[in-house]
Amino acid sequence: MFLEEINMTYIEPCLVDNSRIRIKADLSADISNLLPYLNAYIKAGIYNEKMPNLSYKIEDRVVNLMSNRLTIAKLLNETDAYEIMDEIKDLINKVYDNKSNIEPSCEMKKMPGPIEIYKSLPKSNCKKCGELTCMAFAGKLLSGEKIMRSCEALYEEKNKDKRNDLEGLMLLLGYEI
Ligand code: SF4
Repeated sequence: MFLEEINMTYIEPCLVDNSRIRIKADLSADISNLLPYLNAYIKAGIYNEKMPNLSYKIEDRVVNLMSNRLTIAKLLNETDAYEIMDEIKDLINKVYDNKSNIEPSCEMKKMPGPIEIYKSLPKSNCKKCGELTCMAFAGKLLSGEKIMRSCEALYEEKNKDKRNDLEGLMLLLGYEI
């Protein structure tokens, strides 16, 4: 078997939704060379060849695969974490076993721009984040100069759906939340 184990190394509540958890885990094999095959197989993933990493969703959980480790956010609980880690291990081994039938792809799916980020912001231009507009904040979120928590309005109950959408998007893009 190519990938023997995925070992959880870290577990904590999701910062945005503390009824959920997020984890980090180590892989027993380096999957760097397999990521283009996984990218081809997981058609809806976001692949970054430079890092390298591949992010994708399993329902609303967000998986981020790197060379020899992974993170998973928005897990239901620890049992869910172990089940999803098993699912990922099976996927990696299946893709490894079928490499000869898969055309590897280094294609990076179109990355969301500030407008996609803006759609999930409160759009009130209240300036409390230190930016003049929500659009300016969106650009700084993407460049890493700001974090989601800088927008207090996003954490108000009325903006819960926007916050969840944005959190999922940022996690998919490989940002720490
Ligand atoms: S704090 Fe949030 S709502 Fe206010 S301007 Fe900044 S991004 Fe927009």
